[in-house]
Amino acid sequence: MKNVYLDNNATTQVAPEVIEAMMPFFKELWGNPSSMHHFGGQVKKYIDTAREQVADLINAEPSEIVFTSCGTEGDNTAIRGAAEASGKNIRIITTRVEHPAVLGPCRHLKEQGHEVIELGVNSSGQLDLTEFRKVLGKEPAIVSIMWANNETGVIFPIPEIALIAKEQSAVLHTDAVQVAGKFSIDVRKTPLDMLSISGHKIHAPKGIGALYIRKGTKVNTFLIGGHQENGRRGGTENVPYIVGLGQACVLAKKHMQDETTRIAKLRDRLEAGLLASCPDTTVNGDRVHRLPNTTNISFQYIEGEAILYHLSDIGVAASSGSACTSGSLEPSHVIRAMGVPFTSAHGSTRFSLSRYNTAEEIEYVIETMPAIVKRLRELSPFV
Ligand code: PLP
Repeated sequence: MKNVYLDNNATTQVAPEVIEAMMPFFKELWGNPSSMHHFGGQVKKYIDTAREQVADLINAEPSEIVFTSCGTEGDNTAIRGAAEASGKNIRIITTRVEHPAVLGPCRHLKEQGHEVIELGVNSSGQLDLTEFRKVLGKEPAIVSIMWANNETGVIFPIPEIALIAKEQSAVLHTDAVQVAGKFSIDVRKTPLDMLSISGHKIHAPKGIGALYIRKGTKVNTFLIGGHQENGRRGGTENVPYIVGLGQACVLAKKHMQDETTRIAKLRDRLEAGLLASCPDTTVNGDRVHRLPNTTNISFQYIEGEAILYHLSDIGVAASSGSACTSGSLEPSHVIRAMGVPFTSAHGSTRFSLSRYNTAEEIEYVIETMPAIVKRLRELSPFV
């Protein structure tokens, strides 16, 4: 049976080069970087190198990078840390289509008395920037808006959003978990204040991430403890994973140009092939401003979960809704926010590619999918 992995927005395969870079830090270089003796001293410099490598991916200063345990921690630190640093109840502006790692802390802060505004999106999954400007107003605010959506791949115009936020002196955080490594990010050109990255979306392991904090941004420490990370995050550094994330960033930068074009071509071939061979099929979300690796397709009248089950039987891994919210048969909050009609919403399926996918794998999915759709439609009560 084939093994075709098209669920890279959920997690990615760890790159062999990343594993190789990490290995010495399990075997020989296992000292605590805070120790005064040579066991510590000899590993500290590798954290410094990894910090430079992560910073280089987004054109930041190394001192502006804080290592975290995951994207969720970066999002929580940015939002809750900025709210706490404001020292009062503050307005928080976000969107209805954020990942739970952002919606969760925002709703938690709402319960604590902060005003939280969740902006809606149109049927393409895009924001109305006039509405954003209106709700932002002139009062202090924290804005957390994702750079690209994990379910649809829709890209929000963060450079424009950052300029608007800056005009009003609002603090801007962006969840760039799905963007890092997929297209070029330059925090010197984009006046945002904080940006989260997750290792396991860019071929590093699960359990490591980074938060960019622009110099001078007021954000309280989330994990209070020791003086690690320049006093910005307590806890002994996860040296092997930090080194792995650094290496993943180097590879992401190296492959970005050629791989982005190749992956986008494969994604477009998959999308065109499925739309042509499966009737009553539509693409969810803006097809122009979209991640190169993602397509979210609705196969009308059938359940996404049933599609996944049948795909899995033939060795193809995809996803319906986000991996973190699947398990319930409700259409995802992103698909619902876009107002996708009921008969399409339930059959929404996400295919997300990586640099390890091949043209042959894509042809296999295009060949096998029509029979699955036909079979499920024959059983569907909605047809
Ligand atoms: N933000 C987005 C957009 C994501 O897609 C994810 C994971 O799916 C996260 C945050 C959470 O990242 P992590 O799994 O590293 O906590």
